[in-house]
Amino acid sequence: MNKEIKLKKECPYDVIVCGAGHAGCEAALAAGRMGAQVLLLSGNIDTIAQMSCNPAIGGQAKGHIVREIDALGGEMGINADVSGIQFKLLNESKGPAVQAPRVQCDKKIYQFRMKHVLELHPHITVFQTMVTGLVYENGKVIGVETNLNLTFYGKTVIVTTGTFLRGLMHIGQNKNEGGRIGDFSAKTLSQSFLNAGIELERLKTGTPPRILGSSINFNKCEEQPGDCNPVFFGFYDTRGAEDLFHVEQKGQHKLGWLPGSNQISCWVTDTTEKTAEIINKNVHLSPMYSGEIKSKGPRYCPSIEDKFVRFSDKPTHRIFLEPEGRNTDEWYINGFSTSLPFEIQLSGLKTITGLENAIITRPAYAVEYDFAPPQQLFPSLESKKVENLFFAGQINGTTGYAEAAGQGLIAGINAVQKVRQQPPLILSRHEAYLGVLIDDLVTKGTLEPYRMFTSRAEHRLLLNHSSAEIRLMHHIEKHQLVPQDRLQKIKKKADIINSWTLRLETEKTKGGTWAENIRRTQIGDDSAFPVEFQNLHQTARTEISYQVRYKGYLDREMRSMERMRHLDKIRIPKNFDYQTAVKGLRNESREKLQLIKPETVGQASRISGINPPDISLLMVSIKAFDQEEN
Ligand SMILES: Cc1cc2nc3c(=O)[nH]c(=O)nc-3n(C[C@H](O)[C@H](O)[C@H](O)COP(=O)(O)OP(=O)(O)OC[C@H]3O[C@@H](n4cnc5c(N)ncnc54)[C@H](O)[C@@H]3O)c2cc1C
Repeated sequence: MNKEIKLKKECPYDVIVCGAGHAGCEAALAAGRMGAQVLLLSGNIDTIAQMSCNPAIGGQAKGHIVREIDALGGEMGINADVSGIQFKLLNESKGPAVQAPRVQCDKKIYQFRMKHVLELHPHITVFQTMVTGLVYENGKVIGVETNLNLTFYGKTVIVTTGTFLRGLMHIGQNKNEGGRIGDFSAKTLSQSFLNAGIELERLKTGTPPRILGSSINFNKCEEQPGDCNPVFFGFYDTRGAEDLFHVEQKGQHKLGWLPGSNQISCWVTDTTEKTAEIINKNVHLSPMYSGEIKSKGPRYCPSIEDKFVRFSDKPTHRIFLEPEGRNTDEWYINGFSTSLPFEIQLSGLKTITGLENAIITRPAYAVEYDFAPPQQLFPSLESKKVENLFFAGQINGTTGYAEAAGQGLIAGINAVQKVRQQPPLILSRHEAYLGVLIDDLVTKGTLEPYRMFTSRAEHRLLLNHSSAEIRLMHHIEKHQLVPQDRLQKIKKKADIINSWTLRLETEKTKGGTWAENIRRTQIGDDSAFPVEFQNLHQTARTEISYQVRYKGYLDREMRSMERMRHLDKIRIPKNFDYQTAVKGLRNESREKLQLIKPETVGQASRISGINPPDISLLMVSIKAFDQEEN
């Protein structure tokens, strides 16, 4: 494809992506991999894929999403593996369904490699400019305006502007405009959305300070080395080695070193009673507590002042010291996010064991920003208000790199599907955490930054991270999301898993079937498997072992999912009017259904406040409606 910049209305791009953060990168790459012509615009292309906060990818449930992104052809997983400096499998002592990979990354390598992957892609044009407004025509978006007074035209537009819409940063009483420290604030784009009837609200998030490693007394802290046999995000039994190029080899397809080698440890320490004293004495100076910030922050990433206020019975709190990269001495102080005045940050930090001589390189701060409540979207992530306009990432009310990247991937695929006038890719809740994420967002909305947890997935037993390629295989094939040779390897892996599982469940050996014997042994003990089982690839062995050991639970889960699934097959006609077509519905339910316009009865049943009698009424009314229409 010719990557020349195109400015003419008569030759629009297929997809324009606004913002090259974690959502924007995956959106652009997904559309590009499907052969679409993509323009990726970002206010500063030196901060493509920047990790605004924690230099880590994955973790509880987030790691599941990253593996789903990899299964669907996305880039985040291998980008994290290649830039990884410490690898941990979280919840290793618990059941496989909740175990999740997490990688501490060299944040600069992460950014440089992702930028390079985008630059190398034949269908993607990367261009530095700030999007200042959208161009609308007859209820559709047809392009974007920029601060360079350039207008770009696109058949679809994906907005992935993260925390930048009217971004306002707080450190005590000090305020600065910006989506994140050192970056700009997108001030006019919000008005362009409001002009099109798109509602916006405010959220906030925060980040801890960064300090010099040379100022940490590691002798007083506890080391947390990485796992010796790391679990990667990428499925390297089906991907090719060429995917793993490292940015230092300028795109050559070989690695300087193998992911997981020469890891750097993280460290753990604790706040002290002195920390509590300083924070509690000054909490009124925090914008969250002084009333300066009214918007809601992420419940599960509380600031240090939140911790001492909400958990006042706990005298100390854990602090994780995380390296920001191989070629920097900056360390991320995980657990000390705050927007307290700088002097208080500094004095509080110095009361933490091992940080008595801390030298701060970047202050902690909170950032308030506009987000677009996601009930305004269809499950495809297309806007209900403006056709051909998609939203993905933190702008939809989520927090987290994985949550953003996953939405970006889905939005990128569905923008191309829209251009091709083909049905969108909609993942269901029993197929993927990405299905749970998007269904929660567009069906329930969110009043505070939404992050994924395994507990949000009612079918989590079916969503163990190692099965992602197998459970998403039919979507991968239907939308041609990975190269043919990889698809063949995925299919072959699925066949091996299915045939081995059948054999172990049916073939007799002494003491019963192989499976019965296996279920009598501990996880990790493969002695009850046939000898040749060890010849299989680790990924296949992990999946087969899971299927056999948890068969009873998985069968029960499948039955419960089947019961719910029939509701998701009953579609609600687009022109169905809840004001007139459903008699006897409660007003609250009618208003919610009218606002959210669920696409299926299953989605309607998951709207908070909608109860089974509402659903029964709805089903009867849809049947009557369909009969009248036909
Ligand atoms: C201070 C702070 C603290 C955070 N704390 C946490 C946390 O504790 N835990 C957590 O999981 N996540 C946290 N996050 C959120 C995390 O960074 C985001 O969830 C993630 O980066 C969202 O990805 P995104 O792609 O939606 O947006 P971003 O990564 O923010 O990327 C947006 C991109 O769009 C570009 N852009 C924005 N507006 C325009 C425009 N008008 N024109 C052109 N380009 C534009 C920006 O330059 C940027 O590249 C924090 C973020 C910040 C800023």
